[in-house]
Amino acid sequence: MTATAGRGPTGVPSTTAAAVAAAAELLATARDVTLVAHVQPDADSLGSALALGIVAARRGATVRVSFASPAQPPESLRPLDALGLLVAPEAVPAAPELLVMCDTAAPERLGSLADRLVTARSSLLIDHHASNPGFGDVRILDPSAEATVVLVHRLLAEMGAPVDRPVATCLYAGLVTDTVGFRTAGPAAHRMAAELLEAGVDVEAVLRPISDDHPFTWFDDLAGILHAATLDVTAAGGHGLVSAVVPAAVMGRHRVEEVDGVVDLLRTASEADVAAVLKQVGPRRWSVSMRSRTVDVATAAVTLGGGGHPRAAGVTLDGDPDEVLARLRAALTAAG
Ligand code: AMP
Ligand code: MN
Ligand code: MN
Repeated sequence: MTATAGRGPTGVPSTTAAAVAAAAELLATARDVTLVAHVQPDADSLGSALALGIVAARRGATVRVSFASPAQPPESLRPLDALGLLVAPEAVPAAPELLVMCDTAAPERLGSLADRLVTARSSLLIDHHASNPGFGDVRILDPSAEATVVLVHRLLAEMGAPVDRPVATCLYAGLVTDTVGFRTAGPAAHRMAAELLEAGVDVEAVLRPISDDHPFTWFDDLAGILHAATLDVTAAGGHGLVSAVVPAAVMGRHRVEEVDGVVDLLRTASEADVAAVLKQVGPRRWSVSMRSRTVDVATAAVTLGGGGHPRAAGVTLDGDPDEVLARLRAALTAAG
């Protein structure tokens, strides 16, 4: 078989530019579009899905946006759904006409919706995780992009779709959070942010609910979590590890907006390059969030069955907290 320009031997577009062009064509012709975010959706996955969903809906397609779990999106991200496109996973068709998977590092990150990758008539992946093996008919997969919304922005330009305030707000939410407040954003991402602000994004209205708005009752539990935090300066090849545990009882009392902020406090510890938060999601099951300054935590996460980016990664592990920490330390020693 001879590969046509921009296509690999399997027929999957082989460059980002070719994939963006193929994706624009898919979206231009689809009458019914299902966009999915990863489980425990963040602003990048949900913002990407909703921005594209808003554009597709305005073009007359039947559109739904969903994710497998939890039952409700984070409260802080609900305002992004300006057109009311979010539906429960049960409302996703058994065989979607076009399935668009946003910010999903692996099919398993779709949770119970992963089977739609098999049944969909066509599928489009838009992602920026280096650990992504690549899946779907058309793959906009670029680890050099700071966020998936950067790739969505590029796709919208290819489609000739105007980026107005509701769309820009979705894109900005993903951009500002995945770049940790533009710390990891390059010049092009800053130019994109400028364009989004010109489209009318209200930065404070986007950011305050996501990271700067906690009930007073959180402070007491947060104090307990930080009080019990541990520092191991010998871990991660001598780069240091600071870790904390969020027990299920505390998880049950607070929203994801509170719990997910813990790692952003831990990572400020001067003595540790790596921060890890063990969030209890089952009797012996822990969702681990890792952040680092220099150590490649994505490699450590992949070793353990998770994924992510060099400076922000995650994995789900079973055992008691000491066992989970020992496995983390072993993986970080290898990566450090
Ligand atoms: P978090 O700590 O949940 O904010 O996740 C940090 C980064 O790691 C994000 O890019 C996630 O998409 C990624 N990530 C978290 N958990 C997993 C997992 N179990 N598998 C693959 N990637 C993950
Ligand atoms: Mn994400
Ligand atoms: Mn992302």
